[in-house]
Amino acid sequence: MFHEKQCDFCGECLAKCHYLDFNAETGSEAFRKLVGGGKGGLDL
Ligand code: SF4
Repeated sequence: MFHEKQCDFCGECLAKCHYLDFNAETGSEAFRKLVGGGKGGLDL
């Protein structure tokens, strides 16, 4: 379960995903956008 207050937006979760092409930097940026209400560049 995702807890926004505990997330530091390091981007590691997306960087480690086997199906998405993110590194920690781009994953961090995408995750911030995703949590902010957008899709964060994810094809959802
Ligand atoms: S960005 Fe992902 S890996 Fe990093 S703290 Fe948040 S949920 Fe965890």
